[in-house]
Amino acid sequence: MKLLSNIKKMADTKPETLAFVSQDQTINYGELWKRAEQTASFILNTELKPLSPILIYGHMEPEMLVAFLGSVRAGHPYIPVDTSIPLERIAKIIESSKTKLVINVSKDTLLVEDTSVQVVNVSEIKNHSFLPVTMDTWVREDETFYIIYTSGSTGNPKGVQISADNLQSFVDWMVEDFPISGGLRFLNQAPFSFDLSVMDLYPALASGGTIWAITKEMIAKPKILFEELKKSNTQVWTSTPSFAQMCLMDPSYNQELLPELSVFLFCGEILPVSVCKQLKERFPKAKVFNTYGPTEATVAVTSVEVTEEILQEYQTLPVGKAKGDTQIVLLDENQKQILDDEKGEIIIVGPSVSKGYLGQKEQTEKAFFMYNGVQAYRTGDAGYMKQGQLFYKGRMDFQIKLHGYRMELEEIEYHIAKSKYVKSAVVVPVYQNDKIDYLSVLIIPAEHNFEKEYQLTGAIKKELAEELPAYMIPRKFSYHAELPITPNGKVDRKQIREKVLL
Ligand code: AMP
Repeated sequence: MKLLSNIKKMADTKPETLAFVSQDQTINYGELWKRAEQTASFILNTELKPLSPILIYGHMEPEMLVAFLGSVRAGHPYIPVDTSIPLERIAKIIESSKTKLVINVSKDTLLVEDTSVQVVNVSEIKNHSFLPVTMDTWVREDETFYIIYTSGSTGNPKGVQISADNLQSFVDWMVEDFPISGGLRFLNQAPFSFDLSVMDLYPALASGGTIWAITKEMIAKPKILFEELKKSNTQVWTSTPSFAQMCLMDPSYNQELLPELSVFLFCGEILPVSVCKQLKERFPKAKVFNTYGPTEATVAVTSVEVTEEILQEYQTLPVGKAKGDTQIVLLDENQKQILDDEKGEIIIVGPSVSKGYLGQKEQTEKAFFMYNGVQAYRTGDAGYMKQGQLFYKGRMDFQIKLHGYRMELEEIEYHIAKSKYVKSAVVVPVYQNDKIDYLSVLIIPAEHNFEKEYQLTGAIKKELAEELPAYMIPRKFSYHAELPITPNGKVDRKQIREKVLL
């Protein structure tokens, strides 16, 4: 695989170049490649079946990259799982992926109940002697390179399988079509369990660059974040628009703080015109790119550089044009292609479209299909084309983005409704200036002995924290004797939304 060969070439020719930096931890290309080889050799010595996935648990440690590359060099896909994911959810991921090996990179002990799963601490691998690993065992072509779990509407997360070919198509596009090659320093904001992190991770490694990763501790303490940012000398900024918007609240977030910053790459949610304008004022030397795509099509498939002309011409920014090897098709409700400027469902057709969800045939068949002989994905996003540019017009279902995180309202409802204190629940997003500010849940409670509502809320939240990451737990809870129903018997979300706004 070209990507892995490029990393090897860096390790051979410029081993001292830093590949990854996070707070006080660093790793250079030479060390990264050598330790990945040691990990691959260790994996090849286990009884793992070919192509069996390996779950890698940790946060922003350099060993995360070591374990990713070790897995794929031993011919196994990896599943990145951030330490913010609760244990119950990890258990579900292990069960649905049939993982038999977990590499724990974090300092926490990771308790896995399933005794058929081997949990190895990264330090154990470090002490192992190892044999050279050749490229014959590398993950290749249609074999899965990584699996990222996203929120699923049925209550369980679903694993998107990204192959070596999918990833290569994405990386080639990034390195060739964006001004990011030549050994630059890339900021990484997203935890590795979100595919936005792939936007900087592999383009940086493929082009001999350095990844500079933000940790959750830094995000919790903006003072430290800004001190570290100053030291980072970031040249390519990759984040959700929400994160940049948060940084903009601090007046010191400008070209003086990051004098070499030349490119902003955004993906994952709407990039507001106001954010873009402020960025261009504060960072006059930087270009801003809006990109669009779902995890299922490997990070992003369309892009546009937001120039002054575009800012003047449009009130809502376009998400741009498809990458060269990919086609965007808009379909109406009868599955007929829309050829004029009308709105339709965005279908992505091309080589970076995933083969589907791991072990979930029904969901895969619903979302993926062949279009003129090429793999295609129904995004569930509405969009339209205008002057050759794609515009995003919201979701066609209950998937949302909150502070850059993707989630299905139905998954949250499923977990709340499971609580013994709840008869039924509906989660609604509460908007501020066209953007979701927080989630509110309306509950018909079951019988309980709590005197006060806040105690009941506390008890439900405690249960939820065992199943869902903190960002999926609604901020506001309210209790009702009944909830409005539509004439055909479904909960009336429109009326409920109005009720929440009162
Ligand atoms: P994820 O799989 O987390 O990358 O989320 C994919 C979804 O995020 C897409 O299906 C869209 O709904 C939304 N999305 C991604 N990029 C953009 C963008 N540039 N503008 C608006 N929405 C976006």
